[in-house]
Amino acid sequence: MGQNKRILVTGGSGFLGSHLCARLLDGGHDVLCVDNYFTGSKENIRRLLPHPCFEMLRHDVTFPLYVEVDEIYNLACPASPIHYQHDPVQTTKTSVHGAINMLGLAKRIKAKIMQASTSEVYGDPSVHPQVESYWGNVNPIGPRACYDEGKRCAETLFFDYHRQHKLRIKVARIFNTYGPNMAINDGRVVSNFIVQALKGEDITVYGEGNQTRSFCYVDDLVEGFIRLMGTPDEFTGPMNLGNPVEFTILQLAETVIRMIGSKSRIVHNPLPQDDPTQRQPDITLARQVMGWEPKTKLEDGLVKTIAYFRQTLGL
Ligand code: NAD
Ligand code: UDP
Repeated sequence: MGQNKRILVTGGSGFLGSHLCARLLDGGHDVLCVDNYFTGSKENIRRLLPHPCFEMLRHDVTFPLYVEVDEIYNLACPASPIHYQHDPVQTTKTSVHGAINMLGLAKRIKAKIMQASTSEVYGDPSVHPQVESYWGNVNPIGPRACYDEGKRCAETLFFDYHRQHKLRIKVARIFNTYGPNMAINDGRVVSNFIVQALKGEDITVYGEGNQTRSFCYVDDLVEGFIRLMGTPDEFTGPMNLGNPVEFTILQLAETVIRMIGSKSRIVHNPLPQDDPTQRQPDITLARQVMGWEPKTKLEDGLVKTIAYFRQTLGL
């Protein structure tokens, strides 16, 4: 087999998926993007459609898929709390049935497969920063459980397919990532604050805003995906991928207002149930195994993200 591979990206028209597809095409690969457009959009992949090595298939991963590829990146799943809580049963089905279908596909065609897992497997963590060996603190019956437990079960399936069927797997635990191609109505904090600040609307900080997150720019994350897929077969992960620089949500709100020069006011809305109080990845493993660490500072990433939303909103 040569360098050029046939690569399936599920969730390929979403935020992360669209960047990954573009990056894989740049690397000379054939890319099959599969998406049911639940939270993704055709706009995200419009510029890729004319590419001779790009193919788009509307398909729901909770149903079996029969294609022939060399590698699979399994990203299909809504990632924003408002979207994954909209139809929680479907969210769990997407994570669990989607994983079973993609693992079954990988088994039949002997493809290598990477799972887009999440820092949410750590829940509201009592270990800080989070290391991969930490088992987490997840409420199994709360409103976030459809996503958190769905992703935890998907990890279980990946490791059982690896042990039982010798599948080549990679599990990435992704921490909060932001950048262009996030949907305007995505509901996650970076896009919400930027859109609100650009429109001069109130900035909705949930709770006091003392909760923390660590924000990774999308290009850094995609580089991490590619490197993780390229690690030796013995290496499975799970591996944290994220930016270890931690901010409070209030700091993020103030930074966005300052950078946009917005007149928006900060208002405090109720804190959603089970909202994790702190989150910061320990990326020692990623540094050691693949020499990876994020390069983009928050303000540099925000400049590009603000420009994207300004253009999208026509402001
Ligand atoms: P996103 O919502 O923009 O993208 C998800 C994509 O999956 C969308 O295009 C959506 O239409 C598609 N999808 C949803 N259900 C599907 C189904 N049943 N069949 C086919 N396609 C389906 O979110 P994102 O930020 O790009 O996240 C991508 C992946 O990365 C998700 O699995 C998410 O859990 C994971 N992740 C993202 C972050 C982050 O900060 N962006 C953090 C942790 C984990
Ligand atoms: N958040 C907020 N205002 C918003 C959206 C989110 O204060 O308009 C907070 C949310 O309560 C959480 C943090 O920002 O503490 C990150 O939320 P997001 O939905 O982006 O991702 P999460 O890490 O919670 O999955």
